[in-house]
Amino acid sequence: MKIVQTVEEVRTQVKEWKMKGLTVGLVPTMGYLHEGHKSLIDRAVEENDKVVVSVFVNPMQFGPTEDLASYPRDLDRDAALCEAAGADLIFHPEPEEMYKPDFSSFIDMNTLTGGLCGKSRPIHFRGVCTVVGKLFHIVGPDRAYFGQKDAQQLAVIRHMVKDLNFDLEVVGCPIVREPDGLAKSSRNTYLNPTERQAALILYKSLEKGKELIESGERQASVIREAMIRMIETEPLAKIDYVELVDWDTLEPVALIEGPVLNAIAVYIGTTRLIDNHIYERI
Ligand code: AMP
Repeated sequence: MKIVQTVEEVRTQVKEWKMKGLTVGLVPTMGYLHEGHKSLIDRAVEENDKVVVSVFVNPMQFGPTEDLASYPRDLDRDAALCEAAGADLIFHPEPEEMYKPDFSSFIDMNTLTGGLCGKSRPIHFRGVCTVVGKLFHIVGPDRAYFGQKDAQQLAVIRHMVKDLNFDLEVVGCPIVREPDGLAKSSRNTYLNPTERQAALILYKSLEKGKELIESGERQASVIREAMIRMIETEPLAKIDYVELVDWDTLEPVALIEGPVLNAIAVYIGTTRLIDNHIYERI
């Protein structure tokens, strides 16, 4: 497995693979890899001849008061995980390699990005779309792998690929959880032991929502309120949002009739965590 830092090195390697007729899978990440990322790499290794993992903490998707500086980083550990999983190349650029001093072009979206995480993170998806669009152009993958953990991001990337005719398949992968239900996240490392316990309230509230839907409840407001009441029993939790939205348009629904995304963002202490369930069949 190679680790490279420049766009040119990635292009040279991928060109060599393509000349041999090999297929290429891309797994975009911000590093500090865990089992969730590994599940994406495993799937990419299964479905492609060669796999590129990008490890880049993208400054453009962080707001001015967010955790860009403190975001955990450990390239040696990431490289060991990627190598063991069978990845072929890590692309680990410096921010200056991705954004030259005169950088001034962006990919933005009018729909899908205003609600959910877009409300409290207004510049986030512009940063995500721009960096993912760049990675798609740099690597030219046949398939790109994204986790349902970031469900809004998955929907936004799928839409961007359709709108802008990127010639690749977006593969969505299920959420990987800790044994007690907490969704795996690089940001879980911010939690102290008391907060780690408190963070379980995200999964518990989603289970509550699921239980209500499975028992026949169709009023989104009833489900939402039950989940909010449950989260409010946890003193360390502060709700950013609890939403039930159409899984295609990401617009809030009043009645649950088709595929629905139940998405939540909750602060546990100062750490903002997200989680969700998707109900495909109602
Ligand atoms: P990140 O490094 O947080 O930007 O995540 C990189 C990719 O890994 C994204 O597509 C995430 O959705 C995915 N991912 C992160 N955590 C998980 C998880 N617990 N289960 C599945 N995919 C995940």
